[in-house]
Amino acid sequence: MRSDTDAATSQLFRRIEVRRDDLVALTQDLIRIPTVNPPGDVYTDCAELIGRRLTARGFSVEYVRAEGAAGDSDRYPRTNVVARIEAPRPGPCVHFNGHIDVVPAGQGWTVDPFGGVVKDGRVYGRGACDMKGGIAASIVAVESLLEEGLLTAGALEISGTVDEESGGYGGVGHLAKLGYFSRPRVDHVIIPEPLNVDRVCIGHRGVWWAEIETKGRVAHGSMPFLGNCAVRHMGAVLHRIETELIPRLAAKRTDMPVVPEGARQSTININAIHGGQREDHDGLPSPMVPDRCRMVIDRRYLIEEDPEAVRGEIVAILEDLRRSRPGFDYELREVLAFLPTMTDADAPVVRAVAAAIETVLGRPAQHVVSPGTYDQKHVVRVGQLKDCIAYGPGILDLAHQPDEWVGIEDMVQSAQVMALATLGLLGGDYGLRF
Ligand SMILES: [Zn+2]
Repeated sequence: MRSDTDAATSQLFRRIEVRRDDLVALTQDLIRIPTVNPPGDVYTDCAELIGRRLTARGFSVEYVRAEGAAGDSDRYPRTNVVARIEAPRPGPCVHFNGHIDVVPAGQGWTVDPFGGVVKDGRVYGRGACDMKGGIAASIVAVESLLEEGLLTAGALEISGTVDEESGGYGGVGHLAKLGYFSRPRVDHVIIPEPLNVDRVCIGHRGVWWAEIETKGRVAHGSMPFLGNCAVRHMGAVLHRIETELIPRLAAKRTDMPVVPEGARQSTININAIHGGQREDHDGLPSPMVPDRCRMVIDRRYLIEEDPEAVRGEIVAILEDLRRSRPGFDYELREVLAFLPTMTDADAPVVRAVAAAIETVLGRPAQHVVSPGTYDQKHVVRVGQLKDCIAYGPGILDLAHQPDEWVGIEDMVQSAQVMALATLGLLGGDYGLRF
């Protein structure tokens, strides 16, 4: 039995190795569909590319549009694809979930961000590492298992989902509500986000986004003392964040193995600030005291922190200013909130992927936690499925940057890891024991 499994494993690895060019071509094809979010462009084209390919390989394919989700319209439909194939015998289901949306290209590129350029053993493009390279690797991993006849028990699923970059409500969040990420349909979920080829990502920090609005009163700009300047009030808020909150957050350390190291603490980002007159016109401004200023904050917090206290820190600053600063008034609106999540290190999917990393790469896997959230939150919170991790090719730090790329060797190796881990989780004739 053992030697059967060993022989099957080396056959499987060879199969993936010879499909290197196919893996690269699939990654390029995915990159060339500019699924930019916002606004959520050409999602259907990308979902159909994945769907057509898997239909041809015997999967049953469903398209699930998240009608009514934020951003969904006939112009920008939130189209998800879910593909499933069953083995002859019953058994657990392993699901690979990748988000098909990418963030806008932004400035600073030296190659076409949607060209799928291949250079020096890398594929370049927006979404190369986050996460079209990962989607391609998981597809090739699963196809190779099927071609080798190794799916003897259980089921395999692959989904391509939308809107991960904007919270995932129209994607995994929507599917999770419909039962696509719950038992008994699915048992193990692997999300091929770019966390580096030798790392198992067991969870993420919490997030709390809020919009603070300070209020004032308009007046002529030459007599500011007759008005009440909302921008100066926001300056006071920023000053308190800068001098009190940021040092306090930096002192909160976590036992979560967050990478990079700089994120192993609580953080806050000032995401946007808007105050005063509009600037999107060619004319000159007129002299006015601004009566409104809005700021969006992005607070990332630790599993050791209480979400209510995270909100409370900001409220305390605002309330204190209301008491101490003449003319200060504010409103606070929550934009988005997700609790931190962390899968047990001895959960089956964690052990299977860690063991596969060690076999393929010849070194032990590192267990990490992501600084930002990803779709695991919906799987765990909505689907109530704890056996979920992120594992995929690509270097985390390159995500959302200009000249984003994914290493071809990384993709091949991570496809081998995914295939071997799947074999282990499925049980059947070639299942590994952990
Ligand atoms: Zn991503």
